Amino acid sequence: MRHVRCPSWRNVSHTGAAQRVLIFWAAGVLLGLTLLVAWSCKTTRTGSIPYQRVGSPVEISNAEGSPVRPEPMIRVRIRRQTTEVKLSGRGPWLVAVAGARTGELMSGPVRIQASNGSIRLTDARGRVRGFAEGVEVYAGPVIHAGDAPGKELVAVGRTRYPGTLRLHPRPEVDPNTFDVVNVVEIERYVPGVISKELYPHWDRATFEAQAVAARTFALIRRESARRSGRWYDVDDSQQSQVYGGITGQRIALRAAADTRGVVLARDGRLTEAYYSSTCGGEPALPEEVWPAEGVVTQARLTTTKTEPAPRREVLCQTAPLFRWEVARRVGTLSKRFAAWGRARNHKLARLGRLHSIKPIAKAHSGRKLSFEVTDTQGRTARLTAEQLRAACNFPTPGLPSISHMARLHSGDVTVDVGRRVVRFSGHGSGHGVGLCQYCAQAMAQRGDDWRSILEAFYPKTQLMRIY
Ligand SMILES: [Zn+2]
Repeated sequence: MRHVRCPSWRNVSHTGAAQRVLIFWAAGVLLGLTLLVAWSCKTTRTGSIPYQRVGSPVEISNAEGSPVRPEPMIRVRIRRQTTEVKLSGRGPWLVAVAGARTGELMSGPVRIQASNGSIRLTDARGRVRGFAEGVEVYAGPVIHAGDAPGKELVAVGRTRYPGTLRLHPRPEVDPNTFDVVNVVEIERYVPGVISKELYPHWDRATFEAQAVAARTFALIRRESARRSGRWYDVDDSQQSQVYGGITGQRIALRAAADTRGVVLARDGRLTEAYYSSTCGGEPALPEEVWPAEGVVTQARLTTTKTEPAPRREVLCQTAPLFRWEVARRVGTLSKRFAAWGRARNHKLARLGRLHSIKPIAKAHSGRKLSFEVTDTQGRTARLTAEQLRAACNFPTPGLPSISHMARLHSGDVTVDVGRRVVRFSGHGSGHGVGLCQYCAQAMAQRGDDWRSILEAFYPKTQLMRIY
């Protein structure tokens, strides 16, 4: 029990009426304060932990998921190669070697840094706790054996996250940097994704379909991360799926709860649940958009599995990026291509000033899948549509940065290379594989439920509840 020092009575020598009133009044206030402090001790999560100075051990009953947890935990990288973060709030925060049975309490806010490959934490009183080089550190609230699972919260800077944190030093990149990984139950993670991925006024069925896709996507990444020994499962950016920590958005919370534990499966196993913003009416299959390493096909691919394009073209029309145009300077784009080629060790690095960019393969839907780039000397290089998009948007030192609207939103483009300007006419935003968020919303508005939406975007898959 945390000890609360109670103020004691002093001798009272004057007992006049006014003093007696004052004394009784003061006694009442003190009694009230004492009860308030005692109550707050009982109700805070750390109330039954003895006050600990830095350095004295506290037992960890259940830091990151044990068999009692009803659902899988997901590890989300929320900071990449950072030099410092602040664990906000007064805490006390529990810090420990990840996986250890005991840890220590630190009063917050706690400043977290890395130094020579090891994690260093500084508490509100300036006391420092350092860990050995390369050691991964747990940071979060104290969890007791009797606590209901799934209630933990941490605050990093101004963002609150469900779950706990792991601090992973990155000495192989820079000894003064580390990654911050949020370890959280998947059902608390999903609302934090779908609230960022969709507009709050969109239909419930769209949110529910997106919840299943996001859950499946994360669990697939979790499987591959654990196979390869990676210290996190997903990023919190568009590289995986966008995640903003705790959300109070009711439609997102309800959609996750309505579809709890439901995933997309094929032959009893999790299946890839890709999704993107706007297919532009021209969807594609994963193997078309991401062909096997180094293979850029020239032959027109036959894709009988995708649904007929005209329907998608109608559904997708309300998307702001259904059709778009972007112009770039030939000289700058040629240099950007070369820089991307060097970074990726791709043949594009050998090309000079651009002469033409022509499609060489299309999907059944009409989506462009690959291109041949030719320079003014007649040298050529082939790229997939996704590589073309990456090369056009490649951040290159010495070249102007690209604004959001000037980006190539998808690789499904028709290109006109002029003498000074390259004009792109594009369809959609994103890779166009799997669920299209705008098409899904159009289906929901028509009255389709989340099961029908998922069936349309992921043919030959089954919905399975796995916990
Ligand atoms: Zn679409």
